Amino acid sequence: MRDKKLYSRILGIETPWFVSDVELSLQAQQVKVFIEHTGKKGCQCRVCAKPCPGYDHIIQKWRHLDTCQFQTILVARVPRVQCPEHKVLAIDVPWADQAPDTQPCSKPGSLTGSKRQQPRLLHDQ
Ligand SMILES: [Zn+2]
Repeated sequence: MRDKKLYSRILGIETPWFVSDVELSLQAQQVKVFIEHTGKKGCQCRVCAKPCPGYDHIIQKWRHLDTCQFQTILVARVPRVQCPEHKVLAIDVPWADQAPDTQPCSKPGSLTGSKRQQPRLLHDQ
């Protein structure tokens, strides 16, 4: 599907992550972008950066900047690893670091003022 490629590009999702699905809900005015990890590249502990065996996966959600009037929610299946020292931890996700506008959904209302831009009216010359 083209939407998956489009969202991969605009969100900067790169291997070993990929957009597995994009779901549009007109009723909820929401776009959900589902992201998965290929699991091909070994995962590492996010604290000590040691390669660790996989443990399981957890579903985590982030609120990204809106796509027009639609709320954009990233839903990722994040691998957890079992580190001998730091126990079971979810691995780092690149979009949470690189995109300052991305917020975990557990912190609603954190997208405010300066980060949000009103669409501008375009004038014909
Ligand atoms: Zn560790």
